[in-house]
Amino acid sequence: MARLGVLGWPVAHSRSPAMHNAALAALGMEGWRYQRLPVPPALFEETARALGDSGFVGANVTIPHKRAALAVAVQASEAARAIGAANTLTCLPDGTLTAENTDAPGLIAALGGAVAGRRALVLGAGGSARAAVWGLREAGASEVSIWNRTPERAEALARELGARWVAAPEPADLLVNCTSVGLEGALEGSGVERSATDGEALNQLGLTFDQVGEYSNVADLVYRSTPTPLLAAARAHGSRTVDGLEILVAQGALSFELWTGRPAPRELMDRAAREEPPSA
Ligand code: NAP
Repeated sequence: MARLGVLGWPVAHSRSPAMHNAALAALGMEGWRYQRLPVPPALFEETARALGDSGFVGANVTIPHKRAALAVAVQASEAARAIGAANTLTCLPDGTLTAENTDAPGLIAALGGAVAGRRALVLGAGGSARAAVWGLREAGASEVSIWNRTPERAEALARELGARWVAAPEPADLLVNCTSVGLEGALEGSGVERSATDGEALNQLGLTFDQVGEYSNVADLVYRSTPTPLLAAARAHGSRTVDGLEILVAQGALSFELWTGRPAPRELMDRAAREEPPSA
């Protein structure tokens, strides 16, 4: 049995098992299995070190373990080291681990060529914003700006990664939401109540509905069954949008290829991730 999984806390909401198991089945990779691994922070290092001896080929890592994943690995890619976090661990024959970050190239792949020479604005200064800012700079964005609810965090991240800090969102070619705004309301219905909530969500991002129209490309890392308020507004303005599941599939496909050496069936993984019923 070749095992794969995702370490997180909580991890019940993850759509990675559905996505990866569908890919393994489609490629006839019997004997491979991808599972959820709920691991509290206090047990992360011990669990990660035991993966190799437990038959794991590798594992994804999600909230809140991405920085710890980099620390536990004996080798790490340049991207993981520069970002300061890893979302993919691979077990070496001696049981030690290598760390990679596929969040950054996954985002760039999902954006599909809309980056080089363009001005980008990243909303947020947490773990996913780190990967986004680094990835956008590497992909040749002409300027990367960061806005965050807590300005000091945006300023510090901008200084560390060579980006620009802004006190309020400014117009750009590309807008990438790396905050968790929009996650709430994932299961709500539509209607007037929903519109009011959508307006509030945009305000939490420092934006109005009209301002969203100033960005021709809008990506939202938040994933849910219905469009996030940001993507709903961007679509209403006719902007090109990339949703969080496209980004999830893109990073997952890169991890899958690292572990298996096989081309990932991306369309099938996308369908499987979207079919997974939403959970709390
Ligand atoms: P994180 O490190 O906890 O950062 C959260 C960010 O959201 C911070 O910048 C925080 O601002 C901001 N924020 C939270 N609540 C806010 C509010 N009410 N108003 C304004 N800003 C608010 O989280 P993360 O790991 O970067 O993840 C962020 C989101 O991306 C999550 O929803 C996660 O599920 C999603 N994600 C998706 C993928 C994918 O593949 N699609 C990958 C990674 C993450 P402060 O600094 O002011 O607190």
